[in-house]
Amino acid sequence: MEWLFLLLPVAMAYGWFMGRNSVKQNDHNAQQELSIKYSTGLNYLFSNQQDKAIDYLLEALKVEDDSVEAHFAMANLFRRRGELDRALKVHEHLVQQKHLPNSAQQQAVFELGKDFLSAGLYDRAENMFNQLLKSKEYGLKSLTYLMQIFQSTKDWERGIELKKAIVKTKDKKLMHNLANFYCELATIALKKDEFIAVIELLENALVQDPNSCRANWLMAQIYENHQQYVEACKCYQDIYTQDKEFFPDVIDKMHHCYKELGEEEAFFKFIRQVYEETGSSSALISYLTHIEQTNSLSKAKEFILLALKRRPTIRGFKHFVKMQMTEAEQASTTENLDVIKQLISEYLKLKHRYSCRTCGFNSSTHYWSCPSCHDWEQLKPVRGLEGE
Ligand SMILES: [Zn+2]
Repeated sequence: MEWLFLLLPVAMAYGWFMGRNSVKQNDHNAQQELSIKYSTGLNYLFSNQQDKAIDYLLEALKVEDDSVEAHFAMANLFRRRGELDRALKVHEHLVQQKHLPNSAQQQAVFELGKDFLSAGLYDRAENMFNQLLKSKEYGLKSLTYLMQIFQSTKDWERGIELKKAIVKTKDKKLMHNLANFYCELATIALKKDEFIAVIELLENALVQDPNSCRANWLMAQIYENHQQYVEACKCYQDIYTQDKEFFPDVIDKMHHCYKELGEEEAFFKFIRQVYEETGSSSALISYLTHIEQTNSLSKAKEFILLALKRRPTIRGFKHFVKMQMTEAEQASTTENLDVIKQLISEYLKLKHRYSCRTCGFNSSTHYWSCPSCHDWEQLKPVRGLEGE
């Protein structure tokens, strides 16, 4: 028995030696096969048949842990060059490699989703991103892309179906996007005058994003349509607290609601505060009409001169010229002032009223989603000499 134990290490050494030889033989065969594929691939590459070349090269470059990054780099290069079909091919090849570590597999699915998205194949992209919702690394990014898809296809309900996952991420931007999906549905319901549906949708929007001035803006519309002016005024006041830059656009609507309530005095008190806090030219012009009505034109002129010295704006100056016209005694002076006023109006028409705070896109029309960068609620009145 002792002799047998002494022979055990010899047997092990023999087994190891034989095993190594057979692995070497297998490796050798495989390598030979690969080098044939590799050289065929190169041949196709040189004869300008790039798609066939990629097929062969992909098979030749066996995906092992250490070559994964090279595969991703190759695919990204194709995508950057606009060769989407080739990027797709490499990423699809990577997705099929089931032996890869989990992180590389997830990355492959994610990149494939991005390829499909760039190619406009939304349903396939959606399918890829949906697979990654529980991923620690790609969950948030996938949700962002899914919301981007639903925004492009105006599939607001399907975006809202992701609410649970979005709330879980606590990501402010995603919650802000979700709030705007609710606002989109509320806009449709508002057109049909579905009072309860509008309020419910907007309350949901404000839960997701308490800073959504769009939700308050829409809510004010439905209250106003139903002559509930107190509630509408409250919404406009909330907009001022939420977004002082957007507020100048609601001044006229707010004035109308206070007028309906017979509380213009309270409105002008509020608007004076707005002017003092923000220097907005819309607030200034609105307040001047109040001074003219309750006091005198000369008091209003005193006020505007002081305001223009403090903070000159072209819109303020146009209003000043208009005031001068009402006071002018001679017809020729009125005519001259009218020419100046027309000139300023034409000049202002050339200037854009809104600019996107994210990408700088300029527009004369207001959009809730920027036509250039697609960010929500970023188009606001321009500030400075030619704006507010
Ligand atoms: Zn933008």
